[in-house]
Amino acid sequence: MSKLVDSYRHKGLRKRLIEEVRSKGIRDEKVLSALEAVPRHYFMDSSFLEMAYQDKPFPIGSGQTISQPYTVACQTELLMVEKGMKVLEIGTGSGYQACVLEKMGARVFSIERHHSLYLRAKELLAKMNYKVRVFYGDGYKGLPAYAPFDRIIVTAAAPYLPDALLQQTKTGGIIVIPVGAGDTQVMKRITRIDEEDTREERFGYFRFVPLLGSKTR
Ligand code: SAM
Repeated sequence: MSKLVDSYRHKGLRKRLIEEVRSKGIRDEKVLSALEAVPRHYFMDSSFLEMAYQDKPFPIGSGQTISQPYTVACQTELLMVEKGMKVLEIGTGSGYQACVLEKMGARVFSIERHHSLYLRAKELLAKMNYKVRVFYGDGYKGLPAYAPFDRIIVTAAAPYLPDALLQQTKTGGIIVIPVGAGDTQVMKRITRIDEEDTREERFGYFRFVPLLGSKTR
């Protein structure tokens, strides 16, 4: 892995990107500051530096993508994270979203089912000194050994809300998950009111790569 350099130019490009994300409707200043603090170009191949500060998703290998910055901001805003909260992310991918959550003050646990992506994210996050705990596994099952969580964020398209994730959410806790089996998914925020009841809110359509079942190397 090459040396990590965050130059004035990168910072300038990042500021511009944050203004673009703000203009698209993200209002939470804590979310915008977290996005501004995380050098997105660290998560992409060095030959694509120019692409890192465009508001677009980008391939990261194994047929997967780093999400569009607006989508990362939107999911983070919907999650309503507070300092010290335990947050579980399903779909580590590049590790970018996990770092944004860490910058929000969360204690982040993240699961990735592609072994090569898991290894790469784990190495990068350690090098960046981010205290994110990355796991290789199947996000459908959550992370029972570390449950319950205050918040769960799913960053791949889920055909339905996996029951394990609901069971691993604290009472009063929130899950943000794009649900749908077709080309687009509805972004849902599900609040666990008590043992039996949940409240569901919907926030428009997004396009994610699918959440897949068993582990793959
Ligand atoms: N959050 C990522 C980031 O910041 O780069 C982007 C996530 S990418 C859109 C979706 C990720 O979910 C991929 O890395 C994919 O391998 C992973 N994934 C798919 N199915 C999964 C599963 N069942 N459990 C855990 N991760 C899964």
